[in-house]
Amino acid sequence: MTKYIFVTGGVVSSVGKGITAASIGRLFKSRDVPLSVIKLDPYLNVDPGTMSPYQHGEVFVTVDGAETDLDLGHYERFIDADLTQSSNVTAGQIFSNIISQERHGDFLGGTIQVVPHVTNAIKSRVREAAEESGADVLVVEVGGTVGDIEGQPFLEAIRQLRHEVGRDDALFIHVTYLPYISPTQELKTKPTQHSVKELRGLGIQPDVIICRSDYDVPEEVKEKISLFCDVERRAVIHLPTVETIYEVPLLLEDSGLGEYIAERLALSGPATDLSSWAKLVDRIKAPKPKLSIALVGKYVALHDAYLSVREALYHAGLYHDLDIDLQWINAEDLEQPGWEDILKTVHGIVVPGGFGSRGIEGMIRAAQYARENKIPYLGLCLGMQVMVIEFARNILGLSDANSTEFAANTDHPVITIMSDQEGVEDKGGTMRLGNYPCRIVPGTITARTYSVEEVDERHRHRFEFNNDYRETMEKAGLLCAGLSPDDRLVEITELVEHPFMAGSQFHAEFRSRPNRPHPLIQGFVGSAKEILREGDQAQFPLIKSPERTMSLEV
Ligand code: GLN
Repeated sequence: MTKYIFVTGGVVSSVGKGITAASIGRLFKSRDVPLSVIKLDPYLNVDPGTMSPYQHGEVFVTVDGAETDLDLGHYERFIDADLTQSSNVTAGQIFSNIISQERHGDFLGGTIQVVPHVTNAIKSRVREAAEESGADVLVVEVGGTVGDIEGQPFLEAIRQLRHEVGRDDALFIHVTYLPYISPTQELKTKPTQHSVKELRGLGIQPDVIICRSDYDVPEEVKEKISLFCDVERRAVIHLPTVETIYEVPLLLEDSGLGEYIAERLALSGPATDLSSWAKLVDRIKAPKPKLSIALVGKYVALHDAYLSVREALYHAGLYHDLDIDLQWINAEDLEQPGWEDILKTVHGIVVPGGFGSRGIEGMIRAAQYARENKIPYLGLCLGMQVMVIEFARNILGLSDANSTEFAANTDHPVITIMSDQEGVEDKGGTMRLGNYPCRIVPGTITARTYSVEEVDERHRHRFEFNNDYRETMEKAGLLCAGLSPDDRLVEITELVEHPFMAGSQFHAEFRSRPNRPHPLIQGFVGSAKEILREGDQAQFPLIKSPERTMSLEV
């Protein structure tokens, strides 16, 4: 029988509920408890795949091709497990299923209502996720904050679920925020009290309150929250903002949360062993030379739009004992005079995924700069396509080479729509999504970084390398270093006569874990490290770590 830990949020959003859920997952993973984490998103979109990154941040793609909330990326990186489409339930999915069942006649004679039909559907999805994952403990994060109208059916569903499984097998954790009033130097508990009152109004009494605050929370403040919110004193936990998100599981364990949950849910098994996780955090926090990496994209004003890319670069940096100093570069700025100044101090350039033509010429310029100046370059999905367009224009001399995504009538469509995407009109969930195998071509730089012959990688695209140009490109020095097993699709390109210029049609970043960086990203950072070593040796003496492989048992 699965036990449930429900995580809700109060007061304000963006205080780290997702990291908290992921960290609780890590605590029990480190106790050898079979565990999974899911997210319930109350918005009406079926998935975030059609939302702008400015609305929603990155779209995280699971191995089975679901376009999901970015919190799933945190869960995967913290619990080191591949999640699936069952791990992200949205109101859009629930409602569209119910409505198609109604049209089919499955409810003939009945009136369809939020309670019980919607709440039942939510409960079934949660129970299915528990069953499918085989988890003893399922952490269920509810998106949004208490008080959001669209969140109500979800809160009612988890209330009922706890009633059904019993008090010993489910726990409610509420993550709130304590505002600090500077003139009186006080931390205020009232918003937390109100949020708990709101929760109680929905029939949910929290068992644990996690208070986010960057100020010390005095004992009397914790006592007050405990008394007014009717939560045991030891279950009122202060969570400050930390230098690295990977530190949160350690803080929560130190605060006694793991022990408290284990006791309340009667979880037996070995004590939590976070020693390898703590080592990882020590490595992250240790002073390291800085490696300056340009991330050239169009959504750089919101760093969450490239969350997994950022984390994957940090993981690779950690492997090489470097701090990645990310330069967030708006691709459109590279279309303006003086653009070289923006790139001249970086040790490596990443062009991540994206859609639409805004900023494309700036990205192509970044690729050209990387190629001509032998600066390591990593293209992820769109970044790979950009690398191909740049090569076609400037090496093959096809000056109007382009992707048909940006120039439908170009004479040289070096990137074209995939044949099975032609005529696809529905936008939601119709791209080439999720894991597909990729055969690594022996003798390439890519083969050296991977050291395996075939890999599964996660995709999210409609356009591909045009095979009509394959031979000419290869002859001129752009190799197809990764191919679909039937040789039809180019999955990885790389340049000869360049220390590291590679692009993947897939999103390498989704597979990276803190202790297991993605091979291509690791190769890219390793190559940029050489630039750092040659260029700035006096400024940044490299610290050699005695321990090259990171040990984190998972
Ligand atoms: N827009 C490109 C395509 O659809 C790249 C997609 C991406 O970067 N995820 O092929």
